Amino acid sequence: MRDVTTTVRTKPDATALAAVELARAAVLDDAEAGDIGEHLDSVAEGERVVTHLFACTRTGYRGWRWSVTVARAPRQKHVTVDEVVLVPGEDAIVAPPWVPYRERIEPGDLSPGDLLPVADDDPRLVPTYSFGDDPLDADDKAQIRQVAQDLGLGRTRTLSLEGRDLAAQRWYDGDRGPSAPIAQAAPDSCTTCGFLMRIAGPLSEMFGVCANGDANDDGRIVSFDHGCGAHSEVRLAKKHEPVPLPEPAFDTLTPGDVERF
Ligand code: SF4
Repeated sequence: MRDVTTTVRTKPDATALAAVELARAAVLDDAEAGDIGEHLDSVAEGERVVTHLFACTRTGYRGWRWSVTVARAPRQKHVTVDEVVLVPGEDAIVAPPWVPYRERIEPGDLSPGDLLPVADDDPRLVPTYSFGDDPLDADDKAQIRQVAQDLGLGRTRTLSLEGRDLAAQRWYDGDRGPSAPIAQAAPDSCTTCGFLMRIAGPLSEMFGVCANGDANDDGRIVSFDHGCGAHSEVRLAKKHEPVPLPEPAFDTLTPGDVERF
């Protein structure tokens, strides 16, 4: 057995520090004898509180440790066991950190019928109109929404400046921006292409919609400096043009001619 190393955060209680076999027995209350290995470490957790660590030799638990915390009450000679748990060591195989589904979801993950509610305080959206400063209950708010709808004020929330900037950056950096491989190899950019449809609004000077049914980006937002090989003004070089077919040859031989020969 290797030497016990002691990590001292506070001065360890000598009695609790010596209670290695008591700690081992506590593990054996919950585990098989073959599941516990050598004593690895003793950690002083606080005044008269020490945690003993043992190797876990159970199959599938490589790198895990049995952690047994023992304590001694003031003016008492005996040590008692506080808890026995399995904890991962440095080379233990553990699950990756939990990421909430809202942060994991990506474009393309939604299936028909799936719902993805937007948070009330989503910074990408701002209210289209205000409910005023007076406290209102749900019925009052519903009434105001109905009046706003009747007056044609439109949607309850609209895109915020932040939401618009995020979208523009995402589009520009994505597959329909200037750095996409297809744009890098294109003979010219969308801005000179006859298939580019202009859009209205604040992003109209930067983006349009591709309306070429033969292009990969048909029906999608493209940046003006995007481009592709289906550009309206693309012409093939002479050497790339299809070779013209030869004149057709007419075979005038008839069954009668064959019999004569
Ligand atoms: S066909 Fe190509 S170059 Fe023309 S608008 Fe569409 S993506 Fe741009």
